[in-house]
Amino acid sequence: MALAPRPSLVMSHGQGSWLYDEDGQCYLDFVQGWAVNCLGHCPEPVIAALRAQAEALLNCSPAFHNRPALSLAEQLAQSAFGGQVLFASTGAEANEGAIKLARKWGAARGAFEIITLQGSFHGRTLATMSASGKPQFKPLFEPKVAGFTHVERFDLAAVEAAIGKRTVAVMLEPVLGEGGVWPATVEYLQGLRKLTSERGLLLILDEIQTGMGRTGSLFAYQEAGIEPDIMTLGKGLGGGLPLSALLATDAVCCFEPGDQGGTFNANPFVVAGGLAVLQTLQQPGFLAGVRARSAQLVAGLEALSTRCGLGSVRGRGLLLALELAPDGRQPPVLASRVVSAARQEGLLLNAPTATALRFMPALNVSEAEVEQALVRLESALSQAR
Ligand SMILES: *Cc1c(COP(=O)(O)O)cnc(C)c1O
Repeated sequence: MALAPRPSLVMSHGQGSWLYDEDGQCYLDFVQGWAVNCLGHCPEPVIAALRAQAEALLNCSPAFHNRPALSLAEQLAQSAFGGQVLFASTGAEANEGAIKLARKWGAARGAFEIITLQGSFHGRTLATMSASGKPQFKPLFEPKVAGFTHVERFDLAAVEAAIGKRTVAVMLEPVLGEGGVWPATVEYLQGLRKLTSERGLLLILDEIQTGMGRTGSLFAYQEAGIEPDIMTLGKGLGGGLPLSALLATDAVCCFEPGDQGGTFNANPFVVAGGLAVLQTLQQPGFLAGVRARSAQLVAGLEALSTRCGLGSVRGRGLLLALELAPDGRQPPVLASRVVSAARQEGLLLNAPTATALRFMPALNVSEAEVEQALVRLESALSQAR
């Protein structure tokens, strides 16, 4: 069935920042499975962990503990804000769990409404599509799940005005990723934390795209000096494997057996891969490397934008966007055309909006590869024009 607009290529193998198709063409991959392959294609630490785990235990069902899941839960909680962890397979599933957890927590006082942002993306299950503020989702699959209020992004007063007696939580991405890479400011995040605490509401951060080192710190909220009550992780957590997680403070963890779960939750094989990812990200100097490559890519994109008369660069860490339209004027070329031209030049990019290009390379991309991507992007731009 139609899943995504796909070119006729068939991908066959990958290594680090490079992806190869069946015809032997080779691509510098700055999409990396939509910010999933945080260590690039087929990273050695993940492969080694999977090999060992495949021979030890593939599955024992969530009815039993398994060692990799216990270790990863403990290490995630320790490196985040403590509390408890629930593993799932996809980001949408983790967010579905976050929504259910907030609703259960608020049920005693009849509160269930969650305030989310216009332009946000939280997944493609019915509830997470309903939570999302993506305009294209609006007419689809009616009737939606009730209980979500969408407010103007990054407007604290709009959140405050939307709070009612049925409100239980505010949920947002620290950087609106699919919406076009729009980062929330530190002041906004701090303001939201203060507001939600004062009003007895939960702050839910969807760090599915921003978490696991993507923004240059392990979790994006850490850059704002705040802590959420609930956080969801996905994408980079599994380094290419289907793994997501729901983290919550002890005060919020009110699920009882049967409330939430799934057959493949905390699957030892997948979780073993996640454990290898987290341990790699925590090696000394790893996140400093992300910040250095980010600075290099930002500087390169800004220089290119000046030379080619394009718009501004935005984002955090290695989740960046180049706006093709200079200050609200017409873009010289559509982002989707640049994406196709870049593929011809051997560079894989993504266009979250009609006028923006998104860059989400592997977090261990090399200096030379960033340089090479900038060269290929510039020729793609002139081809597309
Ligand atoms: C990708 C994404 C999701 C959905 O994750 P899936 O694994 O596709 O279900 C949810 N929230 C954010 C912020 C995302 O980037």
